[in-house]
Amino acid sequence: MSAPDGGSAGAGTPGALDPHLWPSSAEVDAAGVLHLGGVGADRLVAEHGSPLYVLDEGDFRARARRFVQAFTDAFAAVGTEVDVYYAGKALLTVAVARWAHEEGLRIDTATGGELAVALRAGIPGPHIGLHGNNKSDDELTAALAAGVGRVVLDSADEVPRVAAAAAATGSRAPVMVRVTTGVHAGGHEYISTAHEDQKFGLSVAGGQAMEVLEAVAAHPDLDLVGIHSHIGSQILDPSGFEVAADKILRLRAELAGRTGDLVPEVDLGGGYGIAYLPGERPVDPAEIAGRVAEVVGRTCADLGTPLPRISIEPGRAVVGPAGVTLYTVGTVKQVRTGDAAVPERTYVSVDGGMSDNLRPALYGARYHAQVVSRRTGTEAVPARVVGKHCESGDVVVRDVQLPGEVRRGDVLAVPATGAYGRSMASNYNMVPRPPVVAVRAGTSRVLVRRETVEDLLGLDQG
Ligand SMILES: *Cc1c(COP(=O)(O)O)cnc(C)c1O
Repeated sequence: MSAPDGGSAGAGTPGALDPHLWPSSAEVDAAGVLHLGGVGADRLVAEHGSPLYVLDEGDFRARARRFVQAFTDAFAAVGTEVDVYYAGKALLTVAVARWAHEEGLRIDTATGGELAVALRAGIPGPHIGLHGNNKSDDELTAALAAGVGRVVLDSADEVPRVAAAAAATGSRAPVMVRVTTGVHAGGHEYISTAHEDQKFGLSVAGGQAMEVLEAVAAHPDLDLVGIHSHIGSQILDPSGFEVAADKILRLRAELAGRTGDLVPEVDLGGGYGIAYLPGERPVDPAEIAGRVAEVVGRTCADLGTPLPRISIEPGRAVVGPAGVTLYTVGTVKQVRTGDAAVPERTYVSVDGGMSDNLRPALYGARYHAQVVSRRTGTEAVPARVVGKHCESGDVVVRDVQLPGEVRRGDVLAVPATGAYGRSMASNYNMVPRPPVVAVRAGTSRVLVRRETVEDLLGLDQG
């Protein structure tokens, strides 16, 4: 192997990789080496160092296109159009923003920093959205000066603040209002955002959503372009989206009853779940698009209102499975647990950890790992992959079967780390953050370079 296009020519081991977990170009050669985008994991580590975030460009583009296609088709069938916004917070670099743009997506940002990346990438202002529950005046002004297509309001106090920023930039501000429908969804309390007792949005049931919608609609410097709902993240059951869509459309009709105007657009947010473990099944964009489109069509028919334009905001489902983290194994330790169920566990320490993937420590998120630099024997032992940080919660993969012979110098791959890995990374323990390297057609290129200790010392004013 390997075919430069990442095809299956050569001596691959078909079936060794769960296709839902790895980028579509991933394959293992006869020597047991993982190839991503046609580049061997051993070569990637030799060229770019370890640990390393690898991003499969073709896989990212294909997933982005699939969302556009699936939602465009499903909503065309009920009679409306869709814009897909890539949620940049999952992973935003200049190249990634350009890929999304080239595949027909727009970009959601949540801070001035993310906005700056999108603008550096040349994304047209009208194709950028600005979110955030605590936007600064500078962020609002920068967004309006860039001519963003929408600022998503998250509280009543933003109404006069956005209006003032609009007046200062001599424009009317296109505004959406983020509301909470009470629908709970997603994998973990921290990433479930549409129930009432949390910081995001304005409650429909509590009446604040309607108050702010009316205030925006009445304001001369604001242009109410839509109602926004984001119900959570890592959602595998589509019914939450259906219930939320129905509630938002009823709110839209009620608002029109008061103001005489139907808002033109409804944003149904992101949160589409992916597979993190072998055997898990991700949400199929076509299935979810079909089900939500049907609800939108039916509810609008019920209400006798024309269909709104729809937007969605996938992040994780576009970039998560396109990313793989490569680590190098250091210390391997047999730990006697004192637990009869697993009397001995192999602790495999890698050269990264919670600084490059915070999700296990933050949410108890679960991942998979595999030795990918050589062929190993079949004997597997209960293992835990841990990082190099000074925290016992510094776990990369809590439970995984690894080859009993796993040893120092092996390259370990953790799949499905493209989303919320690099973007949540820290410098804990003064560890420089790994680079993001894109692979495609047998070549690799650095999208974000590796930090150095000098970079970090450069921040320290002594
Ligand atoms: C985080 C977020 C998204 C993306 O969520 P994913 O789970 O990555 O798809 C979309 N919209 C909003 C408002 C968000 O906060």
